[in-house]
Amino acid sequence: MASFALHGIGVSGGIAIGRAQLVSHATLEVAHYAIPAGKIEAEVDRFEMALREVQSELEDLHATMTGEDAPAEFGAFLDVHWMILNDPTLSEAPKRIIAEQRCNAEWALTQQMEVLVEQFEQIEDPYLRERKSDVVQVVERVLKRLLGKPGAIAAGSEPHTILVAHDLSPADVIQFKRHRFAAFLTDLGGVTSHTAIVARSLNVPAVVATHNARQLIRENELLIVDGTHHVVIVNPDKSVLTEYRLKQGELEIERAKLKRLTTKPADTIDGVRIELHANIELPDDLEHALENGASGIGLFRSEFLFLNRDGLPTEDEQFEAYRHVAAGMKGKPVTIRTFDLGADKTKEGLGGLMRVAPNPALGLRAVRFCLAEPRLFLTQLRAILRASHYGRVRILIPMIASVGEVDQTLLLIAQAKDTLREQGVPFDAGVEVGGMIEIPAAALAIGALLARLDFASIGTNDLIQYTLAVDRSDDAVSHLYDPLHPAVLKLIGGSIAAANKAGKPIAVCGEMAGELLLTRLLLGMGLRNFSMHPAHLLGIKQRVLTTELAAVVPIVDRMRRSDDPARINAQLDKLNAL
Ligand code: PEP
Ligand code: MG
Repeated sequence: MASFALHGIGVSGGIAIGRAQLVSHATLEVAHYAIPAGKIEAEVDRFEMALREVQSELEDLHATMTGEDAPAEFGAFLDVHWMILNDPTLSEAPKRIIAEQRCNAEWALTQQMEVLVEQFEQIEDPYLRERKSDVVQVVERVLKRLLGKPGAIAAGSEPHTILVAHDLSPADVIQFKRHRFAAFLTDLGGVTSHTAIVARSLNVPAVVATHNARQLIRENELLIVDGTHHVVIVNPDKSVLTEYRLKQGELEIERAKLKRLTTKPADTIDGVRIELHANIELPDDLEHALENGASGIGLFRSEFLFLNRDGLPTEDEQFEAYRHVAAGMKGKPVTIRTFDLGADKTKEGLGGLMRVAPNPALGLRAVRFCLAEPRLFLTQLRAILRASHYGRVRILIPMIASVGEVDQTLLLIAQAKDTLREQGVPFDAGVEVGGMIEIPAAALAIGALLARLDFASIGTNDLIQYTLAVDRSDDAVSHLYDPLHPAVLKLIGGSIAAANKAGKPIAVCGEMAGELLLTRLLLGMGLRNFSMHPAHLLGIKQRVLTTELAAVVPIVDRMRRSDDPARINAQLDKLNAL
């Protein structure tokens, strides 16, 4: 087999060597795993259990939705779904596919669904033809059940499997946290897309924007993914393989060395203490943050609690998630960002609330959505406040553009506090409230925001997107996405200076905070608090420990005064050569 290389954007560093697993284009992106002969029976059991669960789910729905005043169509619609679920073409055929193809249940079911949908499409009667959407809905219910449970294969899956997909949503990728994949490849995607961010949090190499990897790579082909150098080698020859195995070994040694820094405080050579916080998506990520010595949680992207599930998390469910993290950090700060849904993180089931916007990144996203739906916002605010009793919780508001939004949010927080007081529920009355600086307007008018807030956190991912008008998840414009653009540097530098002058803490929690080559630049701008993926914490700590602010500041001052990209790059090289 011919060997060839593909280039993309490495969004998570490191080297992985493994076999390709192609992700299907089915309604839901479904992974395809091989199942060892000895585990076929367990996989069939897993499928049967999911069927049984959906059966009782439909029965429960039937019981609750077919009361006297419920429309008669509900009952009929549920009956159709029940019949589809119990038809042997859906309840039996996938078992045969699992056994014959030795594949996972999700894959077998999706294959069978595609066969059925094709058959429905041949039907002339338009009413019956439309029933194909019922088949898809029933299959989705079963898939959700299957994906909600680590399967026999998923849990013990081959650690040397590399997922190759055309595109993955952030919600898809977060599901893979349960599986042990060695790396990810996607045809689409940008460096700071949420898909890339979540892939990074899986702590495996990932390359996006490969354009046609999904088409060119075949199932089970041997791949080398070098996330650091943005390259994928398909069917490597022996000498290349040996070279990469050596490099992999060297990286392991590097990582082991960094481990020794876990408990060391991050002080610069001139003795200035730097806080290195972690970004997390789900409560389970806490462990990773602690293992890597995070001195706080700088960004808990709470919206991930809302994805991949039926309905919305209740106040109690949210409270449990926040309490777990607050208590686990044992008095260290835990910054919970109120949910930032919209743009690339969409939630089904919010009905008309989150309509398809003509331009979702500029639409009803994050705090805008929350203020439009105060009931949902209040539920989350109460949950966060309740958790504040168990640790040092801070509230962070995303996508702030103007003081009006801050004022409205503060009113709602006060309202949530009143309700808890009335109910006698304990919370930290002094819980700090901060705002994300991720819209240029907020960076330029930061003074008035800081006057109302306790702290700020710069979301460079969005700040760059909105400053340069470059969609962060569109690989067609990813070459224009530039953290070093003079305008971006002015907005970041200006925000840090304004906060320092006002005596209000400010952090950077976008991906720039975890970029080794930009650490000294941010330190030189006066930044003292960085929040990043846990996997980057120790590398950045090492960089802080070898930085002397006195040497860095004059170079950074020159960078900030310049409008010339070539000069800015030259000064950056100087900084990193110190
Ligand atoms: C950012 O925009 O930089 C940020 C940290 O938030 P998110 O990446 O979740 O949009
Ligand atoms: Mg953002």
